Amino acid sequence: MLTPKFDQLVKQLQILPSVGQKSAQRMALSLLTKKREQGVILAHALQVAMSEIKECQTCHSFSDDDICPICSDTRRNDEQLCVVESAADVMAIEQSGAYRGRYFVLGGHLSPLDGINAEDLHIDELITRLKNTAISELILATGATVEGQTTAFFISDIARTHVQKITRLAQGIPMGGELEYVDSLTLHQALQNRAFI
Ligand SMILES: [Zn+2]
Repeated sequence: MLTPKFDQLVKQLQILPSVGQKSAQRMALSLLTKKREQGVILAHALQVAMSEIKECQTCHSFSDDDICPICSDTRRNDEQLCVVESAADVMAIEQSGAYRGRYFVLGGHLSPLDGINAEDLHIDELITRLKNTAISELILATGATVEGQTTAFFISDIARTHVQKITRLAQGIPMGGELEYVDSLTLHQALQNRAFI
């Protein structure tokens, strides 16, 4: 223990993912010794983010306003809708630069064993959106996990009456992956989803 206020700072830093006591202490010491001004700016940014960032009313990703920048961008393709589990997935796909359509964030995946059912996700809102908007392709980009697959199947079942083309992200060999180290389920899917070159 250095001082009670120092300890309090270290304790609060540890709420961040992958930050244990040692890292939290290093962060606190760095802020106090070299970065006091930036520390105050950081505290302000945290305050603003926590009180002002909300959920986009259209896609349920994060937004400063009622509608997020992606939903209000008129240059994006209205006819493609990509369904993801979380705002982190939106960020990942945006960073890939490979997609210019719209998004819809479910807020998780179906997991009956953990008590997460359809009514706990934004599935009703998704169906309403499909009914009210002309969408030519629904891309189900939920995780490549059992729960992610289950969620994709569940949605494709109810979405089928509203959208003709429903696709799923291809699954297979990661970039730089050697075949001999890829598990057989992934290899199986890679063979099924093979594409022309
Ligand atoms: Zn949005």
